[in-house]
Amino acid sequence: MDPNLSQLILAQLLDKRLVVLQRRLDSLPVELTEREASFAALQAEADEVIAERKASLARSNDLENQVRTRDERIAKLEKSALESMDPSAAQVARHEAESHRKSNSDDQEEALELLDRAETLEEKRDDLAGKIEEMEGDLTAFRSNVEQDQEDLQKECENLTTQRADFIGKVPSPMLSAFETLSAKHPGKAVVPLKGDSCGGCGTRLVPNDRVRVQAAKALIRCPNCTRILVTQEMWAEASETVEG
Ligand SMILES: [Zn+2]
Repeated sequence: MDPNLSQLILAQLLDKRLVVLQRRLDSLPVELTEREASFAALQAEADEVIAERKASLARSNDLENQVRTRDERIAKLEKSALESMDPSAAQVARHEAESHRKSNSDDQEEALELLDRAETLEEKRDDLAGKIEEMEGDLTAFRSNVEQDQEDLQKECENLTTQRADFIGKVPSPMLSAFETLSAKHPGKAVVPLKGDSCGGCGTRLVPNDRVRVQAAKALIRCPNCTRILVTQEMWAEASETVEG
């Protein structure tokens, strides 16, 4: 039996772990970006609520000022209607006063609606402020955890890479380069065990001669279809135990 084949299986078992670690490393910044985007969206929503509340209050205030100005005008018109000697001029003044009263009534109604709206928006603003504070705390904690997690994962990756280099250190270069090329193509799945009479990678059935050569495990035998390196179930199981144990 060629012991180099076992070394390849060992290296590959580490590759599988490296793939998982790398995926976790890659997902951390993605998750951070997503959380930051949600936080920014919440802040934007709060800003909108604040702006709308401010605009509602300003508009309501404007309307009330207009009502006051009209009230003054109404008082003057009523006074001049009372004091006027000309009945038709008095009639015109009363008419104008009546039209101002109608406008005041409409504006006061609108001003009240705007005050109600401002009150609703105030509640919403306070509610959002609470959520923002909570989310900001979570985000800060996540950011510092991300840094620690990244550091830990990177250290683990480095350890595994060193271990992997030890495993393949004595594998002759033609075998090694076949393995590395396959590993780049199928990370963690360059070497596969036989499954009955077939390749454990793609399921292609082997001719008896190839099967015998895989069983002998004296050379590098590759699947005629997917070109993966084939080993026996026994070698596979033994190497798995070494790494896991
Ligand atoms: Zn195959």
